Order: sequence, then structure tokens, then C-alpha cells
Amino acid sequence: MIKQAQFIKSAAGREGWIDDQINEICFLGRSNVGKSSFINNLTNKKKLAKVSSTPGKTKLLNFFDINNGQFRIVDAPGYGFSKTTLAEKQQFARMMEDYLMNRSNLKGAVMLVDLRRKPNADDQQLYNFLKQLNLPVILIGTKLDKLKKNEINKNEKLIKNTLNYDQSDKFIKISNLNKGDLMPVYQGLIALAER
Ligand code: GDP
Repeated sequence: MIKQAQFIKSAAGREGWIDDQINEICFLGRSNVGKSSFINNLTNKKKLAKVSSTPGKTKLLNFFDINNGQFRIVDAPGYGFSKTTLAEKQQFARMMEDYLMNRSNLKGAVMLVDLRRKPNADDQQLYNFLKQLNLPVILIGTKLDKLKKNEINKNEKLIKNTLNYDQSDKFIKISNLNKGDLMPVYQGLIALAER
């Protein structure tokens, strides 16, 4: 499991990327999907990733060291926040494209989706882009606690269909309220980080 996690730095662009050989896994998702809560649960650190008070505000990549150099988690800014200006959206898109396309340390992505919602155009575009880049993805469906039993499989199917889900990826449903077993997530991360 993740025994150690530490914030290293933030970067607005490639001049802030870290120059070494440690593999990275990028965490992506719409604002408010539960990405910060998930990173905090995964790393057992309540305040590692900031649970957003102003959704969509941070436009930086945040680099975290995991298990003293085993791999890094790179937390990307939440996307799709409606009050974001066009200029901010463009800056975000440029930064993400550059990182996802050109970062040799990057081995895979964790993309979070709200289990209650049909993925929107932003989600579709992002997943599509990751697949074009041949990046393996772990899809994390969040807010499982909000679903009725009979919605769980139905919503998973809708999400997979909408995203045109690649069967070689992983889909893991979680709730950040009752943490549950995060071993499958950890194993998925290791599989990506060591490829
Ligand atoms: P981020 O913007 O993706 O980093 O999302 P946050 O982690 O800041 O969470 C956004 C809001 O959703 C907060 O109010 C969280 O308490 C809530 N939240 C996050 N994960 C879950 C979950 O699994 N279940 C429920 N019910 N609420 C959640």
C-alpha cells in the first residue's frame, strides 16, 4: 500500500517538471468529482491534496512523491468548472496537452467520474485523448454511497458506453466516505508505474 506520500512541488508548465527517471501517474477529473478526497484517502493523509473550497481555481500540476521514490502522483486541476474563463480554459488545455503528450515519465492516468452522472463532452474528450496517446487508464467511479443498489450496474454501463470504454482499462467504484478496500486501486497504480 501507500506508506508514504509527500507534496514535492507545483508546476504551471514544463519548466516546472521534475528532471529524473521516476514514473508518474496523472490524476484527472471534473471539478468536484472527489479527486482530492480520493488522493487523501489513498495516501492516508487528510490534507495532502486540498479538498477544493473554490472548485476549478487551481491551474497547476501538483507533484507528490509516493513511497520514497517508488512513483509519483501528479494531480491535475479539475476541469469543466462553469465559471472558468475562456482564457483560463485555453491555458489549462495547453498545459494538459503538453504534459500528457510529451512527458516521458508519464505511464498512465487515473480518471475520476461521478457514478451518478453521464460523462459529458469534456470527459469524453479527455478519455478519448488518453486512448489516442495509448495511455492505460484506471477509471474511478466516485460517490458510490449516493447510488441505490439497482443503479450501480446500470450507471457503470452508461459511463462505459458513453466513454467508449477500452476493455483493457480498469473500472473501480469507490466512495470517499466509507473508504473500503483500496488494494485494487493500489495494485492498478503499481501495474502502471512499473510498466
Ligand atoms: P475535487 O474537486 O474533485 O477535488 O473534489 P473534492 O474531493 O474536493 O470533493 C468535492 C465534494 O464532494 C466535497 O464536498 C466532498 O466532501 C464530496 N465527496 C467527495 N467524494 C465523495 C464520495 O465518494 N461520496 C460523497 N457522498 N461525497 C463525496
